[in-house]
Amino acid sequence: MTDGISPLLDLMPRASHMVALTGAGISTLAGIPDFRGPKGLYRQPGAERIFDIDWFRRDPSIYYEGCRELIYGLDHYTPGPVHTVLARLEAAGRLQAVITQNIDMLHQKAGSRHVIEVHGSPLHHHCIGCGREATFAEVCALLQQERVARCSACGAAYKPDITFFGEALPEAALEAAVAQARRADLMLVLGTSLTVFPAAALPEETLRAGGQLVIVNAQPTPLDHRARLRLSDLADFAKSVGEWLTSYDQIAPRFPS
Ligand SMILES: [Zn+2]
Repeated sequence: MTDGISPLLDLMPRASHMVALTGAGISTLAGIPDFRGPKGLYRQPGAERIFDIDWFRRDPSIYYEGCRELIYGLDHYTPGPVHTVLARLEAAGRLQAVITQNIDMLHQKAGSRHVIEVHGSPLHHHCIGCGREATFAEVCALLQQERVARCSACGAAYKPDITFFGEALPEAALEAAVAQARRADLMLVLGTSLTVFPAAALPEETLRAGGQLVIVNAQPTPLDHRARLRLSDLADFAKSVGEWLTSYDQIAPRFPS
């Protein structure tokens, strides 16, 4: 175990409402390129058009071509160590919610049940013409045949429920995230530099309500000086918490199922 992490293993058992806030850093551990990183989608020419609602309405193939692999090829990606350990914490009753900026659905794939996606999700799509809903699986099936997933009822494009530039963030998810942040006596901030709204504001809600922050991120964040504990290595974090959970499982009472 890394020396730096031992205070976390003291904090976690005492927390009565622990939540995690996650960003791209935990998915890069799972092999997904960070959209904003040096090799990320946002650095490619024309990238600002991919998640832009006006461009989507004009030409949805810009989005579908940009994301064909990254989003619709997500079956090739498996959850990373942080996704896995957060799902285990939740299953053990130690973590009440995961708030994520990511749009890769890897928390759900890892087995997390209470996931709040503040930038939306491609799990559902809606037709921009008639509003008809399509699941992720339906859209993937359509993309096997066509460049753009189109509604069978009206022929307009299906848009993922991801928040595009020029669109409002999903209100219900935001409200749920703020409520969780205020309720948390311990928030784990994992793999986010806290520069994009609303992620930047949520840990402040926790602090304002008297909760504590543990920040694990490779790069500095604006709230480092206010964190109870500041670590940089996410893989180390996942490993240590996983080991702690294994020992916790051994001493926790077991009920026959
Ligand atoms: Zn339609």
